[in-house]
Amino acid sequence: MRLPPTLKIKEIFFSAEGEGLRQGEPTIFVRFAGCNLRCSFCDTKYAWTGGQPMSSPEILSKIVGISEHLPTRWVVLTGGEPLCQNLKPLVRELKKAGYLLHLETNGTRPLNFKVDWLTISPKPPAYKISPDLPSRAREVKLVVTRDLDLKIIKKMRKLFGEKIPLILQPQSAASWSYRKAWKLYLEAVKTRVPNIRLSCQLHKVYGIK
Ligand code: SF4
Repeated sequence: MRLPPTLKIKEIFFSAEGEGLRQGEPTIFVRFAGCNLRCSFCDTKYAWTGGQPMSSPEILSKIVGISEHLPTRWVVLTGGEPLCQNLKPLVRELKKAGYLLHLETNGTRPLNFKVDWLTISPKPPAYKISPDLPSRAREVKLVVTRDLDLKIIKKMRKLFGEKIPLILQPQSAASWSYRKAWKLYLEAVKTRVPNIRLSCQLHKVYGIK
């Protein structure tokens, strides 16, 4: 008998969405294992390797179990980098079950399925983005690393249309990063970079997952 294909899953849990424009919304997170990048500032390094093999019905059943107690339709597909695995069959099952899908990606891989909300978080030093993605993004999240500067912000602003919010998010809870985010935000506003937003990671403020 052929076994159903599996995906490598690091964790599935409920929380409040901590980042971006959906911040605060009740959400179930599916964290996929593996990533094609190795950012030094990554706050989910534990997801780079390992992961439990789970079939799409097993993942769906876990999500349904959580949403019976903590009702929400939003499911975030995150990582690691979710697009390093073939998510199409899982996405089909989740949509059939009525969930709203939010994909969070570093933007380096093409996307071959539809989602309800797409967050792209381009990463240094290359800030490489798959050409099919810019027009599909609902928001772009730039982590305020030591490297980020106004030149990169303006380059990203050009790549993604002006209607797509460009969000500055401090790196972890480091105070230098908050100060830098504010400074870059002011510079961006002064130099008329359209649709720029200042943000933070809500889950880190609350000390939750
Ligand atoms: S792309 Fe994201 S998950 Fe991958 S190493 Fe960078 S910060 Fe971590």
